Amino acid sequence: MTKYMKRYEYPEETRILLERSLIPFAIYQLIDKRVVTLILSDGFCKLFNYGDDRKRAYYDMDHNMYRETHPDDAARIADAAFKFATEGGKYEVIYRTKAPEREDYMIIHAVGEHFITDTGVQLAQVWYTDEGLYTDNAEANDFDFNMSLNIALHRESLLKASYYDYLTSLPSMTYFFELAQAGCKTMMKKGINPVFLFMDLSGMKHFNHKHGFAEGDNLLRSFAKLLINYFSNENCSRFGEDHFAIFTDDANIEETLHELIREWQSTNNNKSLPVRIGVFTNYTKNMDISVACARAKLACDALSNSYVSGINYFDRALLEDIDHKQYIISNLNKAIAGKWITVYYQPIVRALNGRVCDEEALARWIDPIKGFLSPADFIPVLEEAGLIYKLDLYVLDQVLAKIRRMEESGFHLVPQSINLSRSDFDSCDIVGEICKRVDSAGISHSLINIEITESIVASDFDFMKKQIDRFRKQGFQVWMDDFGSGYSSLDVLQSLNFDLIKFDMSFMQQIDSSTNSRVILTELMKMATALGISTVCEGIEKESHVTFLKEIGCSKFQGYYYQKPIPLEKILEKYEKGIQIGFENPDESDYYNAVGRINLYDLDVITNEGASTLQQYFNNVPIAIMELSGENIRICRSNQSYRDFMIRSFGTEPNNEYIEISAFDHNTGEPFIRAIASCAQNNTKCFIDEELPNNTSVHAFIRKITTNPVTGTIAVAVAVLAISEL
Ligand code: C2E
Ligand code: MG
Ligand code: MG
Repeated sequence: MTKYMKRYEYPEETRILLERSLIPFAIYQLIDKRVVTLILSDGFCKLFNYGDDRKRAYYDMDHNMYRETHPDDAARIADAAFKFATEGGKYEVIYRTKAPEREDYMIIHAVGEHFITDTGVQLAQVWYTDEGLYTDNAEANDFDFNMSLNIALHRESLLKASYYDYLTSLPSMTYFFELAQAGCKTMMKKGINPVFLFMDLSGMKHFNHKHGFAEGDNLLRSFAKLLINYFSNENCSRFGEDHFAIFTDDANIEETLHELIREWQSTNNNKSLPVRIGVFTNYTKNMDISVACARAKLACDALSNSYVSGINYFDRALLEDIDHKQYIISNLNKAIAGKWITVYYQPIVRALNGRVCDEEALARWIDPIKGFLSPADFIPVLEEAGLIYKLDLYVLDQVLAKIRRMEESGFHLVPQSINLSRSDFDSCDIVGEICKRVDSAGISHSLINIEITESIVASDFDFMKKQIDRFRKQGFQVWMDDFGSGYSSLDVLQSLNFDLIKFDMSFMQQIDSSTNSRVILTELMKMATALGISTVCEGIEKESHVTFLKEIGCSKFQGYYYQKPIPLEKILEKYEKGIQIGFENPDESDYYNAVGRINLYDLDVITNEGASTLQQYFNNVPIAIMELSGENIRICRSNQSYRDFMIRSFGTEPNNEYIEISAFDHNTGEPFIRAIASCAQNNTKCFIDEELPNNTSVHAFIRKITTNPVTGTIAVAVAVLAISEL
């Protein structure tokens, strides 16, 4: 048999004669590896309930020959038919099929043989016999027949169908490759450009989990049905799981796919899943079909981060992306050994004293060929490949070396944050490994902070909780990174024992324009304070950010406003030039932590009961934190209400400068300042009622917070509870 044959055309008279036969039969030809229907007799149309509509019968046979076949039989008979067509021999099958528009299955017995036409073309004729209605019911009249049929069906169904998929009856992958190769060749001869599609349902595993495997199978079957309607049976294949490949000559592919997505979304009582579609349009002569499919898949996989239906076209950039990934993975060891990977440090600045209280280590890859690579270029690749632990442990080693160097140079040592990824925890015992390395460097665990993003935690709660607890038991601080960038739940925060929450930089990007996000951040800050957790905001780029964050009580700041990440040499250089933000003295850290954790909105409830509008929200009890240093006093933190109170009562807006207490003698506010000083010195809490110059009296609460062991400075909280006219 010639491989790529033309369709055999019967002479008009013969065709009419054959079609008029009352015996149910069909004549087929194998073209481009697929079975094409040439003749359907009147008997055939009657048997299968097409009546006079022969056109429809032809259409159905060409698009989906097994549309009405019982799903348990379809793959088996498709397989038998294909073997018959390609390998010759005799064809004999029993199967169940539904007539269009009828509910019940009838049993069909089909027998086929090959014959050669006078022009030497091999065709096949298949005769069909109606064996009665099929029933599962053992009481039925046809009991014996159905029993033996059931046994026969069962025996046959055990024969593995290798050309067709058992679930969807679509061609299997290997058969699809053959079909596509032949099909593309024919298309290209006609000047048509073949298009390859790869489709993947999003969230199939979850669907199976939620609705059961039987429902999952139904979903795949109905998706296959939809594909057949759009592209016909022999143009589609299921490559396993929920992956489908299609080749088609559709010129309006974009429109067709949008239509398909729309229709799919409303199928299955709207219980369908989003479908991601990759499209490859640049098939060239002699290209391997597997390559074309792989490229469509690549385009499809690029959509994998979204849970919505989408279409993506293959382009060169995707190939470059693969090359890039390959480059990163195969050069990691070289990059570490050759010091292409270096560590940059970004300071984290204490709100209270403006000094550097921590630093974050951030990896950079300075490549001899590709130049400067930022973490976004290599971190996700290494994470996906499960190799990030090599990088993270290398960064740790660099950090440990840096600490030793800073110590030798006599700098104050502040904790260094390192970032960990989820796959660090899968690749090795990262907690044990970090302990080992920090110990052998002879460095205190309290000098290393572990940053973990909230998305990591969400992935496996119990396991991650154990690892976090292990780190904390060992004396490391554990920080939650990028809080607010995903779906954080507050009880996760509480039960996971983080030492600090780092707010994602998206908050800073939004607070300028959105009151809502200011309210949200304020509330989250309050919550963190209530839980005794310190806070950092990332991405601080402007003075206005600093002002707002100081007001709502954020403990620490990180961002370009202070300093971009820079390498160690640059830090040392800046110190030499005297232009670096100074490090905090570690002995004072506890003092600042205690002062920083006081929430300036703690007393809201006293006056603002029932407050609901945004304006009222920010209209709080005036609260300030004062510092007394010897005979000097200053306001180190205050909220807006306190600043308003100062302007009203004293005519000045407070700054953070120290003022001599004696400067208030015989002056406005003297009794008030004296009361604060005495509370601080006597280590007491007290309520005071003092007269102010503008004919008002103030009722305030004063409490000592703590003393700085290095400077002797005392911090005091002052809350103005009421102001009344005299
Ligand atoms: P991250 O841990 O949230 O780090 C903060 C990122 O924000 C850094 O980006 C930093 O350069 C950037 N940044 C700091 N201040 C500002 C600012 O004011 N404005 C703007 N626009 N950006 C600011 P970078 O260094 O590109 O790191 C990105 C992410 O890559 C990090 O996010 C971290 O998740 C990851 N990463 C970096 N180094 C490592 C590492 O050694 N190991 C692991 N596992 N992940 C790392
Ligand atoms: Mg980080
Ligand atoms: Mg972050």
